[in-house]
Amino acid sequence: MSPEKSKTDCVFCKIINGEIPSKIVYQDEDVIAFVDINPITPVHLLIIPRKHITSLAAMSDAETPLVGKMVKAANKIAREKGISEKGYRLTINSGAEAGQVVQHLHMHFMGGRILRWDN
Ligand code: 5GP
Ligand code: ZN
Repeated sequence: MSPEKSKTDCVFCKIINGEIPSKIVYQDEDVIAFVDINPITPVHLLIIPRKHITSLAAMSDAETPLVGKMVKAANKIAREKGISEKGYRLTINSGAEAGQVVQHLHMHFMGGRILRWDN
């Protein structure tokens, strides 16, 4: 596999290929979703593309439809979890000042309680 598809030192690539265990709640050919190891809300998932893309800022124009697929997965998960109407939050941190720690594009899916803007 080429380096841009799977980075050997990337924790999320390791989750994708099963090297690191995770609670996967959704997967299709382009994206997977799993439970965040350090949840800050009752439902805290990470939705990621299978392709290793470092950040939102590093996405090429051709890759941006993947974000739509991540949102589609989020909406499906919300319906399955029965929180579609109650509400949920999707967040992508891009870069150091936004608090991005893992350098593989990911969308936080948070819900299951009332969320304030500062959490
Ligand atoms: P960031 O701060 O980069 O936006 O978010 C990274 C998220 O990845 C954090 O919420 C953190 O808890 C989660 N995380 C980091 N390492 C692992 C891991 O090995 N497994 C899982 N399930 N989540 C992880
Ligand atoms: Zn990766």
